[in-house]
Amino acid sequence: MNIILLGPPGAGKGTQAQRLVDRFGMRQLSTGDMLRAAVKAQTPVGLQAKAVMERGELVSDEIVSALIDAELSAMDADTGVIFDGYPRTAAQAQSLDGLLASHGRKLQHVIELDVDEDALVERITGRFTCAKCGKGYHDTFEQPAVAGVCDKCGSTEFKRRPDDNEETVRTRMAEYRAKTQPILPIYEERGIVTRVDGMADMDSVTSAIESVLNG
Ligand code: ADP
Ligand code: AMP
Repeated sequence: MNIILLGPPGAGKGTQAQRLVDRFGMRQLSTGDMLRAAVKAQTPVGLQAKAVMERGELVSDEIVSALIDAELSAMDADTGVIFDGYPRTAAQAQSLDGLLASHGRKLQHVIELDVDEDALVERITGRFTCAKCGKGYHDTFEQPAVAGVCDKCGSTEFKRRPDDNEETVRTRMAEYRAKTQPILPIYEERGIVTRVDGMADMDSVTSAIESVLNG
């Protein structure tokens, strides 16, 4: 199964993708994660993307679609994929159609996480992740069971994203509204979009997504 999780920054895409990975053995393809890895490794893509990401703007369509192509090429065609943070523009949606076809995959669902924009700043400014395994947390909404220790891998190191500040969040939301939201009709016409209430608690959101996937 191949699905897209769509929603503004902080909607809960990464949180829900991690849960689907754990429960169904799907693979999460997050272009944001790939770009952050490229920035860290100072690859040519990373060097090009760094300043754009810090401003909260979108990296070029060619770069992100090439990243997705490389991942799909390296993957078993039977492994289900969750696209997280991709596609974000009409051009990326078009590229994804081509990539799916060339890799013998079909898109079953687009799940739109519907959230109240006012809640997103709090979600994003409180977000942190385990530096070792990447598990996501939140200062208020999802703290580790033992303070300072990752529930999943026991690491005591955590990190915060440089772009998770209020100013950048506003730009990221504007980018979402201007460039990403307009791609929804492409998928609505195909009858594969389901809107899920992303303001519900994390477990309820997971249940709602699971019932979509279980048809
Ligand atoms: P995205 O990947 O869409 O940018 P995340 O999954 O990283 O968003 O979620 C942003 C922050 O909000 C994280 O710190 C996460 O723990 C928290 N969060 C995610 N889903 C919910 C929810 N349903 N209720 C409250 N907080 C949430
Ligand atoms: P995310 O981790 O999804 O919040 O993405 C972090 C940042 O990476 C975004 O603000 C963009 O600068 C960049 N980015 C991630 N995915 C894409 C994409 N599909 N298209 C363009 N830029 C992206």
